[in-house]
Amino acid sequence: TSSVELCTEYLNRIEALNPELNAFITVDRDKTLSEARAADARRARGEAGPLTGIPVAHKDIFCAEGWLTTCGSRMLANFVAPYDAHIISRFKAAGMPSLGKTNMDEFAMGSSNETSYFGPVKNPWDPKAVPGGSSGGAAACVAARLAPAATGTDTGGSIRQPAALCNITGLKPTYGVCSRYGMIAFASSLDQAGPMAGSAEDCALLLNVMAGFDSRDSTSLQREKEDYSRDLAQPLKGLKIGLPREFFGEGMAPDVAKAVEAAIAEYKKLGAETIEVSLPNMNLSVPVYYVLAPAEASSNLSRFDGVRYGHRAAEYRDLTDMYEKTRAEGFGAEVKRRILIGTYVLSHGYYDAYYIQAQKLRRLIANDFIEAFKQCDVILGPTAPTTAFDLGAKNADPVQMYLSDIYTIAVNLAGLPGMSLPCGFGGDGRPIGLQLIGNYFAEARMLNVAHQYQ
Ligand code: GLN
Repeated sequence: TSSVELCTEYLNRIEALNPELNAFITVDRDKTLSEARAADARRARGEAGPLTGIPVAHKDIFCAEGWLTTCGSRMLANFVAPYDAHIISRFKAAGMPSLGKTNMDEFAMGSSNETSYFGPVKNPWDPKAVPGGSSGGAAACVAARLAPAATGTDTGGSIRQPAALCNITGLKPTYGVCSRYGMIAFASSLDQAGPMAGSAEDCALLLNVMAGFDSRDSTSLQREKEDYSRDLAQPLKGLKIGLPREFFGEGMAPDVAKAVEAAIAEYKKLGAETIEVSLPNMNLSVPVYYVLAPAEASSNLSRFDGVRYGHRAAEYRDLTDMYEKTRAEGFGAEVKRRILIGTYVLSHGYYDAYYIQAQKLRRLIANDFIEAFKQCDVILGPTAPTTAFDLGAKNADPVQMYLSDIYTIAVNLAGLPGMSLPCGFGGDGRPIGLQLIGNYFAEARMLNVAHQYQ
């Protein structure tokens, strides 16, 4: 099959199914097909890499030259990026055409894709259910076979939670493995890009493309190039799986608990041992995150002022009025809530009580993982406490929404790699995700553990 044929198949499926699913914000047949023709020409010249010609859908948080790049916000609804994010240039260099830009929660703030200015995405398994978020469009388009693979970003669970809710595989790498250059910033000390696809094997191949040092991101890590698929076939005999006591208490829905228990039994059959570990500060991760992430967001989002790019209010009296009207119109309710919280916790008089305290607790949470990894090779648990909830179910109560990330957020606070893989279905017929957490830079091992289960 040529890349042009493959891309045409996917574009036709997008055209047929996206009006209902709403997984894509922008599709551009001409752009995709011209990239596909270039990939075919490259293959004909014998210059193809392993993924040359395979298309990928990009979360609309990544700047891609000449593409509308909205970040799910009215603020950027007219913003055409003038340059490529590092991740995008890596995919281009690998010869992988873009199928378009996927829907997401506004500025990646959300767990259900319902904060998007472009409307919610439907879960392909059940149109009444949310796909998860913030990379909801990415997860839904892979699950519905509108794309073979997609990029996502994960600040507190935004790759893993939608992957779980849509029955696909998604991986958040160790902080610093993928460059943040050209990825619109939410909470810079937590944001990390990663692959979302149909299997751990596919995620490994995609991570091979995405990972790598980039001098334009000051937190990008300079490491030797590795092949993330190198360990996929390793047997699991002797593997030590850590089960955190705090993951298996109350809070997990009974069908999620049953599915995770079944996965543990399967791993034992594959030769793994389990050991109970403890993450004593786990219960602090959601409150710590909701101090630190809004603090960073309030600073990062100050650049959207109507002056340089994006939305600007049509009428205003003076500069201050222009700022105020632009930001009042451009940002949705959840983004405004985060900016207000962030500004508050950073302000003089509250900084020590909230921001500094949260930074200290973040260190304790990371230390818990460092202790746990002295006793085990990977940590296993659920990705999300329940299967996908109904559209609209948690909109009135932000705290309920925030708690859908209770198992994923600590991983970002610690900077560790984590992934979600399919783990059966609940009584409601909706998918369940299994979460694996690796030690720093143990992506290859984590992918091996996932692949052997799949
Ligand atoms: N749901 C979390 C939030 O709203 C995490 C989002 C993310 O990982 N981008 O902040």
